[in-house]
Amino acid sequence: MFEGLSERLGSVFDRLRKRGALSEADVATAMREVRVALLEADVALPVVKQFVDKVRERAVGREVLRSVTPGQMVVKIVHDELVDMLGSDSQSISLNAPAPVPILMVGLQGGGKTTTTAKIARRLKDRERKKVLMASLDVTRPAAREQLRILGEQVGVATLPIVQGETPVAIAKRAMTAGKLQGFDVVMLDTAGRTSIDEGLMAEARAVRDAVNPHEVLLVADALTGQDAVTTATNFHERVGITGIVLTRVDGDSRGGAALSMRGVTGMPIKMLGVGEKVDDLEDFHPERLAGRILGMGDVVSLVEKAAETIDAEEAQKTAERMMRGTFTLDDMAAQLKQVRQLGGLGGIMGMLPGIGKLKKQMAGANIDEGMLKRQEAIISSMTRAERRNPKILNASRRKRIAAGSGTQVQDVNKVLKQHQDMARMMKQVGKMGGKGALAGLFG
Ligand code: GDP
Repeated sequence: MFEGLSERLGSVFDRLRKRGALSEADVATAMREVRVALLEADVALPVVKQFVDKVRERAVGREVLRSVTPGQMVVKIVHDELVDMLGSDSQSISLNAPAPVPILMVGLQGGGKTTTTAKIARRLKDRERKKVLMASLDVTRPAAREQLRILGEQVGVATLPIVQGETPVAIAKRAMTAGKLQGFDVVMLDTAGRTSIDEGLMAEARAVRDAVNPHEVLLVADALTGQDAVTTATNFHERVGITGIVLTRVDGDSRGGAALSMRGVTGMPIKMLGVGEKVDDLEDFHPERLAGRILGMGDVVSLVEKAAETIDAEEAQKTAERMMRGTFTLDDMAAQLKQVRQLGGLGGIMGMLPGIGKLKKQMAGANIDEGMLKRQEAIISSMTRAERRNPKILNASRRKRIAAGSGTQVQDVNKVLKQHQDMARMMKQVGKMGGKGALAGLFG
């Protein structure tokens, strides 16, 4: 997500950073460019306007223009305002109610509602050790109920037995009764969708809402539909009342307009992101981290967390702390390359690494594959410990030796060193952002 926007903003800020001093006119020009970039990312106009006004107001402040690094200060302001626009506080699904906690899933057909219901149920079961019951209220499409049952089997979550001829409200009530009698912690109700918003759909959702008084009403919306997803959310919020949004198909959404406008337009928080078809392709929504990703500062925290799931948690924590202190060694990089390889996919992870956006562009067409990762690891492990600790000593003859040792070319060695430098620099910057923009707090 956000590739286009990230690239556009990156070039605006590169230009700003290059200037020693900034004038109001420089800021105005930059803001015009930021505005166009946001509109091209399909962000809602009122949200763009408010954003640009806020940034401009803060950026032309005396302290900024006179500061030693005005360009950097503007980037920080944009970062903070982006976080604000995305909804500063990340919110998770609340289970703070008497069991069984009813969660109502609403949305248009095809938005990913059923899949997301199963994804959330699985996560509550695995991460929070909750006993979850799922029930499909779709009485018009038998296939929908069957789909939920199969997903339930797949993720190891119970589904309410199907009884023919019941109304959605009757199914919802039966689910709650079963939830109570059988000691479930959470009951997830997957309502029927329609291909477009109609009064029947809304009335049905309201009737179920009134019958079970859900603790959360989550709207599931397809990010790929851009501003239509935002309109859908607004409609559901006005007519049924929602407590949060789950944005799906974020994996295929390069623009990010829906994600960026949702909070500003609907006032409701995005709580989770669907990032693929598999049952574990679900992510928490962290405004800080996304803002960091958009601004090319990388999302070290998510990366480290993802790694921690597959790899030693303590080691990952240590790596993260070292990165934040600005000491990112070639050994860290080698460990990271290995983790990336172990984690399988490169696509998603690439976006999380600081400075890698540019690198990805440089390598466009170079076919970044597992082989490449292995070669880079080989290059680093062909260095001596002293070289890894202090890459400055790597003169031409040492580079030649390393290339020969790893079966690569000197230019491959140079590329790895350049990449390491870029990454270390970006990590330092992220660490330096300090305050609200810092990653520090996230480590607790
Ligand atoms: P529903 O009609 O709203 O219940 O939608 P479904 O849950 O049946 O999902 C429709 C299609 O979207 C299915 O093929 C899902 O696998 C797919 N899908 C759901 N969420 C995501 C996601 O986050 N990313 C991708 N790529 N596909 C998704």
